[in-house]
Amino acid sequence: MSNPSLLILPGDGIGPEVMTEVKRIIDWFGAKRDLAFDVEEDLVGGCAYDKHGTPLHDDTMAKALQVDAVLLGAVGGPKYDNLDFSVKPERGLLRLRKEMDLFSNLRPAQCFDALADFSSLKKDIVAGLDIMIVRELTSGVYFGEPRGIFEEGNERVGINTQRYTESEIDRVARSAFELARRRNNKVCSMEKANVMESGILWREVVQKVRDTDYPDVELTHMYADNGAMQLVRAPKQFDVIVTDNLFGDILSDCAAMLTGSLGMLPSASLGAPNADGRPKALYEPVHGSAPDIAGQGKANPIACILSFAMALRYSFDQGEEAARLEAAVEKVLADGVRTADLLGEEGVTPVSTTGMGDAILAALDASL
Ligand code: NAD
Repeated sequence: MSNPSLLILPGDGIGPEVMTEVKRIIDWFGAKRDLAFDVEEDLVGGCAYDKHGTPLHDDTMAKALQVDAVLLGAVGGPKYDNLDFSVKPERGLLRLRKEMDLFSNLRPAQCFDALADFSSLKKDIVAGLDIMIVRELTSGVYFGEPRGIFEEGNERVGINTQRYTESEIDRVARSAFELARRRNNKVCSMEKANVMESGILWREVVQKVRDTDYPDVELTHMYADNGAMQLVRAPKQFDVIVTDNLFGDILSDCAAMLTGSLGMLPSASLGAPNADGRPKALYEPVHGSAPDIAGQGKANPIACILSFAMALRYSFDQGEEAARLEAAVEKVLADGVRTADLLGEEGVTPVSTTGMGDAILAALDASL
């Protein structure tokens, strides 16, 4: 049997810095856990534009469609701000998401106890928090037609259309139920069925998928505005939340801030399963290329490392090894190791990006 394959796209700014630490961790799993990957590396974003005149070369796109999972750092930077929209670094990322048809965006909000003080909420509300927001990523109001700014009488009107087909709702609901089965078996679906027909259809289809194929999973429905309130009032009531593109955009950012720093937040975007049952998948930290700290060894690599942990769990069925890596991160944080973005306590000297990688590798060694 060949090794599982990974395409690594470090990208721009701090992307390559944080990805260097992930590559050391990938090597560790190969050497110490007999879990080797066939790794290829390529360009995306501004660095791809510099070399090829496009933020994502067709060859890179073809590789992304072939491998078992793609791991991306970050794209963008001030150098590229004045480029034409069609070749901006972000277009590379959007092309990957579109051509891989990654319709299910997973954003965990997990609060490590050692960092509970970083949350804007009270410690007891967030300590131990572990929820997952599943956002539909390829349809809804960001894509629906008609859209545009039109003349109407003697004024202009701006129009966007919320549009969901049953099959689009069905597939994202399934991905949420599958996820729930690997967690605490609870899904809360959020929409605005009280005022939107698309919300009524959303609710009906999610309920039908559950009743037909996932009767073991507990399903509740909530209006998205109440969901936003509940997320900041009592977030631990949730396990998996599934919602549309627009509400998911807002609710996942809201949930993310429950946990503190941007340098801590991983994500996964999943598509339809391939013949081998593995979904098309792209894993990336939520943060951008952080040009303000790029090249200074200050970036926190944990978001990117936790994105690889998600790949272990969701692409490679290595839940135990994912938990080992997450536990190593938790131990390092509990021991007080901090990159500069996590400072707050008195008398703590920050470690560099490499220093954080070293500490996590040492914790992995200690886990054996
Ligand atoms: P950003 O996420 O890059 O940075 C926001 C702030 O958080 C900065 O102060 C940065 O130093 C800090 N930060 C982010 N990640 C960190 C980490 N791992 N460790 C320590 N500190 C961290 O967002 P921005 O400044 O709005 O955007 C910068 C560039 O990144 C822009 O070109 C933007 O278009 C791009 N961007 C890319 C992505 C992506 O690749 N998915 C996402 C967001 C922004």
